[in-house]
Amino acid sequence: MRRLRDLLQEAQQNGVAIGHFNVSDLVLLKAVFAAARELNVPVLVGLSESEREFVGTRQIAALVRSLREEFDFPIFLNADHTHSLAKGIEAAKAGFDSIVFDLSSLPIEENMCQTKQAVEALKAINPSMLVEGEIGDIGTGSEIHESSPDLSKGLSTAEEAKQFVESTGVDILAPAVGNMHGMLRSMVQGETKKRLDVERIAGIKQAARIFLTLHGGSGTDDEDLRKAISAGINIVHINTELRVAWRHGLEQGLAKQPDEVVPYKILPSVLDSVKQVVGSRLKLFNGRQMVQKA
Ligand SMILES: [Zn+2]
Repeated sequence: MRRLRDLLQEAQQNGVAIGHFNVSDLVLLKAVFAAARELNVPVLVGLSESEREFVGTRQIAALVRSLREEFDFPIFLNADHTHSLAKGIEAAKAGFDSIVFDLSSLPIEENMCQTKQAVEALKAINPSMLVEGEIGDIGTGSEIHESSPDLSKGLSTAEEAKQFVESTGVDILAPAVGNMHGMLRSMVQGETKKRLDVERIAGIKQAARIFLTLHGGSGTDDEDLRKAISAGINIVHINTELRVAWRHGLEQGLAKQPDEVVPYKILPSVLDSVKQVVGSRLKLFNGRQMVQKA
């Protein structure tokens, strides 16, 4: 089985990105896995600290490992938005393939100092674990927001990206480039889209020369995502879109069978709804939509 680092390298060479999807139950995991298998593309499954608390850190590691081994399929596990070294160590020991060590709310000097320490501590446990650092402000909460926060002051610069990467030794960097966690209600309804600062991404890539992750990809304009990947984004995170699909699927499943109590008869509706979103995002990230149109 090839490692996550090799697959990122390969994606970079091919001008595509690896999709990262957050899961917090077995139905979401099954949906992500099914969509990735259907397209035969590598995929990252991520869980934030709260998502891990609900599912179980060692339990999700066992589930993802069992899928990877049984189907010989490149599905990898990421410890998304981890705010303390203790939680990071827990994920490293459980066998996570990568971690988002997120101290972006701290002043940059403090963020750099503590991220460097975390890189050393985590690599001591698992040398092949990839560590991602975060800079800038992209807001919090993969949920539906009523109003848009002002994130213009928290955009990342090429200079700070370069300095952060060189001083911390991270493998992956997540910059703030117009992206935002969560979605506005108008985005859920499809009336508005997030727009990205593609030039900023290209500048950061050129200066920092490292794998780049785009967080908060839900609700982003498709063309901007394509351009962002061309400019150097290697991983795109999608969470809120899946959560919206999960809820819609559940409501439909319950409405269709108002008297049903058997979970495995209701939940396929959730699985289908989520799988559709994952599949369409994976096609975009892997350049499959253009192939289909041609
Ligand atoms: Zn994120």
